[in-house]
Amino acid sequence: MPELRKDPIVGRWVIISTDRAKRPTDFFREQFRIKGGFCPFCYGNEHKTPPEVQAYRPNNNGGTPQRDTPGWNVRVVPNKFPALGIEGDLSRQADGMFDRMNGIGAHEVIIETPDHTATLASLPAKRIEDVLWTFRDRILDLKKDRRFKYVLIFKNHGEAAGATLEHAHSQLIALPIIPIYVQEEIEGAKQYFIYKERCVFCDIIRQETEAGSRIVAENPDFVTLAPYAPRFPFETWILPKRHESAFENSSSPMFENLAKAIKTLLIKADRVLDHPPYNLVIHSSPVQEPNNDHYHWHIEFMPKLTKTAGFERGTGFHINPTPPEESAKFLREASVEDPVIVPIG
Ligand SMILES: [Zn+2]
Ligand SMILES: [Zn+2]
Repeated sequence: MPELRKDPIVGRWVIISTDRAKRPTDFFREQFRIKGGFCPFCYGNEHKTPPEVQAYRPNNNGGTPQRDTPGWNVRVVPNKFPALGIEGDLSRQADGMFDRMNGIGAHEVIIETPDHTATLASLPAKRIEDVLWTFRDRILDLKKDRRFKYVLIFKNHGEAAGATLEHAHSQLIALPIIPIYVQEEIEGAKQYFIYKERCVFCDIIRQETEAGSRIVAENPDFVTLAPYAPRFPFETWILPKRHESAFENSSSPMFENLAKAIKTLLIKADRVLDHPPYNLVIHSSPVQEPNNDHYHWHIEFMPKLTKTAGFERGTGFHINPTPPEESAKFLREASVEDPVIVPIG
């Protein structure tokens, strides 16, 4: 059973994976896993994953859907090597001066396409929309479990960004705690709201769309922008224009434009940065809390272009070599016309 342990100084929880304790040499072997070989996420290999949790199967020809068989667009399976376990209770305990609890959580994989060669960027917007619906359905299902306070959806694309399989997929982790980066954002947004009685994200959207210098793209429901103080070069956020605290509560018609906003950003990034590895996360309100006026859900896109080293790891203080006004300009001016991408320059 994995364990959650809390740092008593800054209050940060970490997952200690007791089941898969690694020896020093294991860390070096891992980097070879991604290349080639058998792919359990491919069409026809459905029996090679743990039994599916959910799938979209539009081509059933009216028959009864058969689980763990081909015919799907998007498929959700439990992670074969979960960071957290679904069974049991939290059993919060003191360990002397320290705090611990059982590593309870859900860890699922969302396989975004049956096609091994496709990427999220290359999928038609309609298929990206299916992936987003799947995210929403999984959050709505998992939030019924009162043990879970937070559901994080994230994507590691490319080996350097942490992907261990190259077949396009995202992951979901349901947690019994609120992760510290999200907590910091929520607290900051709450303070701003107490002071100004306005949502800080709504204010950012208003000011940035007027100024324009950090805007990457826009559609009727979403704005894509480089934040004023990004940690990483080409860090880019996608925000809903209308205030909404939780991703899963977004109104249905918005998913079409969210899919388009994601596709636009990924194609632009592929073009400007020559298919970079990246992480993408959805930041949303804690799942057991009602809608609120201070927090505003959004997507953070972080290409992996630099390595963080001693200074960043030791301080949480980032050195970003690319001003956001420049990264936004590059992305804004990049064409989205043809998803068959020829690297430039
Ligand atoms: Zn595959
Ligand atoms: Zn807002």
